[in-house]
Amino acid sequence: MSDTGNEKPVIVLFRHDLRLGDNGALHRASQTGKPVIPIYLRDERVSGDNRPMGGARRWWLHHSLIALAASLRELGARLVLKRGRTDNVIDTLINDTGADMVVWNRRYDPPGAEIDEALRVQLSHRAIATQTFEGQILHEPSLLKTGAGGHYRVYRPFWRVLNAMPGLRDPLPAPLELKGWQHELASDTLDDWGLLPHQANWAKGFSEAWSPGEKGARDRLQVFLHDRIGSYAEYRDRPDIEATSRLSPHLAHGEITPFQIWHATRNPMLDGQRAGAEKFRQELGWREFSYHLLYNNPKLPSENYDTAFDAFPWENRPDLLSAWKHGRTGYPIVDAGMRQLWRTGWMHNRVRMIVASFLIKHLLVDWRIGEGWFWETLVDADPANNAASWQWVAGSGADSAPYFRIFNPVLQGEKHDPKGDYVRKFLPELAALPDKYLHRPWSAPHVTLKMAQIDLGKTYPLPIVDLQCARERALEAFNKTR
Ligand code: FAD
Repeated sequence: MSDTGNEKPVIVLFRHDLRLGDNGALHRASQTGKPVIPIYLRDERVSGDNRPMGGARRWWLHHSLIALAASLRELGARLVLKRGRTDNVIDTLINDTGADMVVWNRRYDPPGAEIDEALRVQLSHRAIATQTFEGQILHEPSLLKTGAGGHYRVYRPFWRVLNAMPGLRDPLPAPLELKGWQHELASDTLDDWGLLPHQANWAKGFSEAWSPGEKGARDRLQVFLHDRIGSYAEYRDRPDIEATSRLSPHLAHGEITPFQIWHATRNPMLDGQRAGAEKFRQELGWREFSYHLLYNNPKLPSENYDTAFDAFPWENRPDLLSAWKHGRTGYPIVDAGMRQLWRTGWMHNRVRMIVASFLIKHLLVDWRIGEGWFWETLVDADPANNAASWQWVAGSGADSAPYFRIFNPVLQGEKHDPKGDYVRKFLPELAALPDKYLHRPWSAPHVTLKMAQIDLGKTYPLPIVDLQCARERALEAFNKTR
């Protein structure tokens, strides 16, 4: 079958790149002048470490696909939705349409990269042209090597090389119009995919907190550049202040690229805010580093990078795990973080470190279990960042925090949420407690608790572990692995 002008169409594959701007594959397709068939292909085999996408991300995906389909429609093309194995779906689509070219943006999670490579080989056997493009990360992991030819295991030297890399390209413009494919083409229906959560109201808070889609991403970046970047270095560790960009879920779904962000932070208008911009780029550097690690260690989400941790005596007590998940540990900064996660699908980075350290070290729960909960509940759940960060906190990862660095959740809370605004927001049952007791309610005098209408053990839990004992137990357990 061919188009009215006898032109064979070009297929543009969408996966983790739900945008029109800085989209190398779409840009290339528009330049060919051929009819364009954009397809979002849901191949469940390749989300992260061969795990299905978590519930919070499925919510995001649903809304992001609506936004993407609307943007493509405005340019003249209809988004086709398909589910199945990438090779089979593309094969059928080529048979049905006569397409002679398939383009896509590269992925760097090993299962995804493997499937894309298999597709490239399969299409070359059929003499179908393919072209792939970068966009998800700033550097090609296969090209960035240490002097000895291996991959980087330490962030600092990795960052130095990345930051000095010449010629990071400018972002590509979005196409102004597309030639749509004029023939009937079967598409799945988004609602039939059942991406929205089954638990009533789980995602209610997500809609209040987020605007999935490319425009939402652009707006977030503008707010950050306008209002926050100057004080980013100073306040990025403060969960009580809106100081970070909150671009992570937009990056995870490819609604914005690191090239677009990098480019924007180089704007001369930001010259007076260089310290903030530099620190911010360093954090993007951590994302790059995580992908570098994942690319070179495909088992990063499931196996200890440092195999000495294979002997770690995890206890994995279900009652403690459940208290952690539900934000009922009795440690306010931990509980506020876990409730922020459940309510909004996101958690501040400092608090992620605190809750992860608490789970792994004070509760002796295997980091993979915490990683799995984050995978299910984060709207920004990312196979590289999540795995690398959990291993970093556990001490089992590359360039990790040492295991014996155990965050004290009370001191962390007092330092990073000094007035308790963050805790009060997510634990309203503690709101009336004076600041000085907010991160340690059990130490408040009885009368103070009473005035704040707090009945410890009833309206808010007593601590589920004693910090000092738990710390000693963790260090003992760690010594067994050495
Ligand atoms: P900003 O401070 O504005 O930073 C800008 C961008 O830089 C972020 O969007 C993110 O892409 C990147 N970035 C920032 N900090 C880090 C970091 N420490 N490591 C890697 N990249 C970083 N991030 C995810 O995107 N997905 C995850 O699944 C994820 N899981 C995590 C699990 C744990 C236990 C910890 C400690 C951290 C995790 N992070 C994860 C990293 C970090 O917490 C988030 O990227 C950050 O909080 C996102 O908020 P932001 O966009 O406002 O960040």
